[in-house]
Amino acid sequence: MSYLTHLECGYCGSTFNAETLHTVCPKCGKPLLARYDLESVKKSLGRDDLIERVASLWRYRELLPVREDANIVSLGEGYTPLIHAARSGARLGMERLFIKDEGLNPTGSFKARGLCMAISRAKELGVTEVVIPSAGNAAGAMSAYAARAGMKAHVFMPSDVPLPFRLECAAYGADVHLIDGLITDCGREAHAQAEKNRWFDVSTIKEPYRVEGKKTMGYELAEQFNWILPDVVIYPTGGGTGLIGMWKAFDEMRELGWIDGVLPRMVCVQADGCAPIPRALAAGDEFASPWEDAHTVAAGLRVPQAIGDFLILRAIRESNGTAIAVSDNALIVSQRAMATEEGIFACPEGGATLAALENLLNSGAIARNETVVLFNTGTGLKYP
Ligand SMILES: *Cc1c(COP(=O)(O)O)cnc(C)c1O
Repeated sequence: MSYLTHLECGYCGSTFNAETLHTVCPKCGKPLLARYDLESVKKSLGRDDLIERVASLWRYRELLPVREDANIVSLGEGYTPLIHAARSGARLGMERLFIKDEGLNPTGSFKARGLCMAISRAKELGVTEVVIPSAGNAAGAMSAYAARAGMKAHVFMPSDVPLPFRLECAAYGADVHLIDGLITDCGREAHAQAEKNRWFDVSTIKEPYRVEGKKTMGYELAEQFNWILPDVVIYPTGGGTGLIGMWKAFDEMRELGWIDGVLPRMVCVQADGCAPIPRALAAGDEFASPWEDAHTVAAGLRVPQAIGDFLILRAIRESNGTAIAVSDNALIVSQRAMATEEGIFACPEGGATLAALENLLNSGAIARNETVVLFNTGTGLKYP
């Protein structure tokens, strides 16, 4: 069963009943986070009980928001391999470099984690029609889970999104609307259409349960490292759902008594053509101002303004981490290195994490004897 208790605004702290549909906080417009009765979970579930469970993110059932098993819409997402990157590591003088390969998820990216949760919970709360603004992978994942749940899906994508992303959504039966503009423009249009047609908007972070799906990456890291978390996690950040989710998972696991000690330093990687988070971190700001003229081949990083910006910045600061921008050229070189050295055909966003690591080793921000995890967030196959 789920031990979900309520929703809480990540900014103003207001609390809300979780048994009705919500997007952002009606009081301050910031993201809502799911809260659980962790005291009761602690009494009924030990970390060693997980060993026998299903090899998907549903192994963390009590810590996920879906009430009834019948409402779970699953394609076997999560529990992806943690791969020792011996050859890339040797080149960089590191023994403990790992890649968490999210490209093996259904629909080829970690967006499956968030959207299986959003769609499952939406189904539970009576939704029949959903909409998403997306620069690629989120749309494909939503379309697949919506198809499986028997829901009608609407997708708003920038018109320059690579063809495979569009074809994928169409194949799952979604209505694809192309917009001349960026993901933020798609968001505005999706929101307007959602209001008009009473569709449910599952935009990143605006919908409260995608973070719950993505937080399972944090639980998996703990389990796969035998409950001793790595020193550094390097994550390619767009809307920030994964980074916020993992930080939330670490917090929950600490309360459950499953982990202790120092938490990993969280490193946010963006492209230098769209780097609002590194800029805000350097300026000491609580929020990130919108990035003008955002451009990068890594579509998942082309997010000029994230509504969870303060949560991303908080996680970076609390963890003593950092935020760094890399060039498109560097991330493509590193994408190729992951393929030729490790046999992992990463997405450009995944390549960006290796490029960032090289910079941070050179600057001394990461030591070569530390344990580092790179997140390859999707397959390279969808980027022609
Ligand atoms: C969406 C996406 C990202 C960014 O993820 P967030 O959790 O929203 O920051 C990174 N890489 C890929 C491949 C993506 O599709």
